[in-house]
Amino acid sequence: MTARRLLLLGPPGAGKGTQAQRLEEQLRVPQISTGEMLRAAVAAGSPVGKRARSFMDRGELVPDEVVIGVAEERLRKADAARGFVLDGFPRTASQARALDTLLEALETPLECVVSIQVDEDALVERLLKRAELEERGDDTPETIRTRMRVYRERTQPLIDYYRGRGILAEVDGSACVEEVAKRVGEALAA
Ligand code: AMP
Repeated sequence: MTARRLLLLGPPGAGKGTQAQRLEEQLRVPQISTGEMLRAAVAAGSPVGKRARSFMDRGELVPDEVVIGVAEERLRKADAARGFVLDGFPRTASQARALDTLLEALETPLECVVSIQVDEDALVERLLKRAELEERGDDTPETIRTRMRVYRERTQPLIDYYRGRGILAEVDGSACVEEVAKRVGEALAA
């Protein structure tokens, strides 16, 4: 049976959001994107948004306690009991531990972590294109470089963490959206 409690890991621009959206439709489970939730909080001018904004504008990580609170609140909602596709959370070891503790308490442990891998030069190109299309304030050349570094230093080590737990699937994300979706589907069914 296909897993329904999923996490998509990968560098900025690897296509996590696009693939998470497709999985949300296919599996009928919510996509949980901390990036989107934080952008909504910034737009609403909420206390979380006010704390998060300067970090996001610089391409740095929002402090763990803020993001963990946002993610936990979302995962406790009734619709996540049937499953979820986490996109962009966790991004640090301490976020990963907090997630494990929460999901253990809810008796809904992660079933599969899909690591989407794309060469860094190709990603920078993709992100610059996305910046033109979506007008995201954090897609300038300078913040893109920061976000890549932050990914390498803080988030990439999570790949080994989940590999050690035996729930990691690695997918080459350098192809077109359809092809990557096919590879993700195969990884989930394996
Ligand atoms: P994303 O849309 O996932 O690329 O996230 C956009 C920005 O939101 C990131 O560059 C971070 O500043 C912030 N953000 C999103 N998710 C997290 C997280 N799990 N931990 C820390 N910061 C996050």
